Amino acid sequence: MMNDKKSQRQGLNCPECDFFIEISIPQLLGCDDFMCAGCGLAITLDRQSSRESMEALSQLNVALDNINILKKKYSAK
Ligand SMILES: [Zn+2]
Repeated sequence: MMNDKKSQRQGLNCPECDFFIEISIPQLLGCDDFMCAGCGLAITLDRQSSRESMEALSQLNVALDNINILKKKYSAK
């Protein structure tokens, strides 16, 4: 699956391990949190205080400004 169309992939890079978390906007809006498959970092969307930023989520790269990162690492590696 080596597509050149990187820009087609929706998601964000994990701030912890830089793993690309592939998640679509509907997915992101539909759940309160999600987890990095790379390191197990739990990322929680702070939707109450970021109502306006929900629009910014259409540019998911901005999303990291508006989410809370919970360090919940799994020791398995
Ligand atoms: Zn990670």
